[in-house]
Amino acid sequence: MNNKIWLSSPHMGGGEQKYVNEAFDTNWVAPLGPNVMGFEHDLKKYLHQNVHVAALSSGTSALHLALILLGVGPGDEVICQSMTFSASANPIAYLGATPIFIDSEADTWNMSPEYLEIAIKDRIAKGKKPKAILPVHLYGMPAKMEEILTIAAKYEIPVLEDAAEALGSHINGQNCGTFGEMACLSFNGNKIITTSGGGALVAKQKVNTDKAVFLATQARDNAPHYEHTHIGYNYRMSNIVAGIGRGQMEVLDKHIQNRRNNFEYYKSAFSSNEQIGLLEEPAGYYSNRWLSCILTDRDSEVSREDLRLALEAENIESRPLWKPMHMQPIFQDAPFYGDGTSETLFDNGLCLPSGSNLSEKDLSRVTNCVASVFKNHSVKMEKVN
Ligand SMILES: *Cc1c(COP(=O)(O)O)cnc(C)c1O
Repeated sequence: MNNKIWLSSPHMGGGEQKYVNEAFDTNWVAPLGPNVMGFEHDLKKYLHQNVHVAALSSGTSALHLALILLGVGPGDEVICQSMTFSASANPIAYLGATPIFIDSEADTWNMSPEYLEIAIKDRIAKGKKPKAILPVHLYGMPAKMEEILTIAAKYEIPVLEDAAEALGSHINGQNCGTFGEMACLSFNGNKIITTSGGGALVAKQKVNTDKAVFLATQARDNAPHYEHTHIGYNYRMSNIVAGIGRGQMEVLDKHIQNRRNNFEYYKSAFSSNEQIGLLEEPAGYYSNRWLSCILTDRDSEVSREDLRLALEAENIESRPLWKPMHMQPIFQDAPFYGDGTSETLFDNGLCLPSGSNLSEKDLSRVTNCVASVFKNHSVKMEKVN
């Protein structure tokens, strides 16, 4: 059997151990220490906007704290992109609020500005103004932020970006994670850089990262004993984990280049197959290409599931696109605004192996396998005819 090819596996750059060893050597294993400060500093510098960064235990915890800081509570409504990972929507439910799901649009696969505005008008007409708008930059492709921010400003609703998949992506040079009032990043094991598990909150205002750090460290008030006026959380990143993050920052741009090369490889390999489409960058958009995804033609005789199973038989991991949240049993009662674009994407889309550590041989195994499914199918069709 050939080696397993993973969808997106961790890829260490080499510098990580230096920072982790430093933490051991200085016994700065805990608590918070120079690696956490250093990692936050590196992220802030990388995003090169006037933003503030708080390193946390996960992207999910960053979203949870951001929603708290935006004042979301029981009975509130939060507008959320439907096609995403459940971690975008779950923190809304943690707070007893209701997610209002918005469909995707075809250019970026992200939140449709058109349905966003329809939803806002309708929710206001029904008596409740949404407390926040949560767009996602799926697979590294930036959402239509200019349009979304214009609508958000018009109705005076803050934007919280889910940039978990989009570190290093930008629109005309402005990085994902710096458009909204706040944003989350993730350093989970499969993301573009990983700390083994971790995340960060990015905020325009320092008061928000300060408050997030306060809440993330059990909300201890300033007193010699433990005094509490708020409910706290244990969400801060550890100094060991942050050491891995500092090392990963040294190779982030290289990883992005490798992932973009994967996309180009797939694009050229499938260029003559009219049944396969790939998502191009709109003008001015730059995707980190966290995952390269293909769309099988709606009328294609070969389904994305045929491809997934054929790849699996070859020991190659692939995965359907995110199943939209409005189709998930747990969110079936949540309101949804859209025309079914995300459902079609889910039915026909497949994420291919996209790691920054894939070899050309790995990539050719993937494309050969996909090509053979189409070839076998056309041979079968000829026999039938
Ligand atoms: C990974 C991911 C998250 C959650 O990040 P964690 O660090 O795993 O908690 C949130 N949203 C999206 C879109 C993600 O891909």
